[in-house]
Amino acid sequence: MRKVFNFSAGPAVLPEEVLQQAAAEMLDWHGSGQSVMEMSHRGKEYMSIHAQAEADLRELMQIPSGYKVLFLQGGATLQFAQIPMNLMRGKASADYVNTGEWSKKAIKEAKLFGKVNIAASGEDRNFSYIPELSSWKLDPQAAYVHICSNETIGGVEFNWVPDTGDVPLVADLSSCFLSRPVDVARYGLLYGGAQKNIGPAGLTIVIVREDLLGFAPAGTPSVLDFKTQADNDSMLNTPPTYSIYLAGLVFQWLKRQGGIAAMEQRNIEKSALLYDYLDSTGFYNNPVAPKDRSRMNVPFTLKDAALDDTFLKGAQQRNMLQLKGHRSVGGMRASIYNAMPIEGVRALVQYMREFEKQHG
Ligand SMILES: *Cc1c(COP(=O)(O)O)cnc(C)c1O
Repeated sequence: MRKVFNFSAGPAVLPEEVLQQAAAEMLDWHGSGQSVMEMSHRGKEYMSIHAQAEADLRELMQIPSGYKVLFLQGGATLQFAQIPMNLMRGKASADYVNTGEWSKKAIKEAKLFGKVNIAASGEDRNFSYIPELSSWKLDPQAAYVHICSNETIGGVEFNWVPDTGDVPLVADLSSCFLSRPVDVARYGLLYGGAQKNIGPAGLTIVIVREDLLGFAPAGTPSVLDFKTQADNDSMLNTPPTYSIYLAGLVFQWLKRQGGIAAMEQRNIEKSALLYDYLDSTGFYNNPVAPKDRSRMNVPFTLKDAALDDTFLKGAQQRNMLQLKGHRSVGGMRASIYNAMPIEGVRALVQYMREFEKQHG
């Protein structure tokens, strides 16, 4: 067992087994005499790693044929721009649902490429809920509808898929990728940075329906055109090879855990442990509507914010790291991604109980 539990929102904890395997293979991958980092991205060794990673991701998510998987760079933040760049398709506007800080950033970038219609917003209640579909003002002529499936900072998560009819649904999965089954066929495009739930920073995954490719306007740089990336199997230029290799090890680890459905069960169990405790006491508070609570990122406040530093110091002494909330909301945040063992959540709840006893 590792000596700390890392509750960081991202870059975040990775499975211990995966890190050990990467360490063992660091200097000599499968007898090649090279580290994966040193390999030509066009050589047969790396090509096999790349192809296996894609095949495993397709298997885990049951990605239908007719969708391309792209391994890109630039983070989800570049996708905030690259998506409208490629998907506006000459249309006047795109619909965005504003559920928090990451939605807002996506909206800001999209405005550089066209008109943005805010179809719904949770801002009226400080982003503590997901607005119901019946209240959304969707435009049937929109280029696409964008949602953030899990708001990493606010801790609200979609546990349902909006029906957007013929308008392609686009979702930012950065912080909930592979944490629960996703019916890919209901989306036009799914994307996310790897560093929350999949692997090291530097890799961005885009899953895009093929009929949405080829609409980037003239003048789009080739590296930013989904079609040129897809036509070149994400090897238009040097891909983030080591990050893709490590993500591939995580995919294999997920398969050994029983796949995404098994992972979801564990995530339900882990998050329930924490929410049940939070709901049982007035000493701590989570502001999110129970039906919209994130299974990945659990923000909470202490009754008395003056105790925050003491709480964090005590957590650190017990080898629980990175529990400080995002600077925009304050308080605490426990990120409990796939690789966080249930023992970590138990240790946190145990500490929270003791802290309450001492200071409540
Ligand atoms: C972290 C995060 C991002 C930004 O990711 P970068 O890789 O830093 O660009 C975007 N959306 C969500 C939901 C995130 O959690």
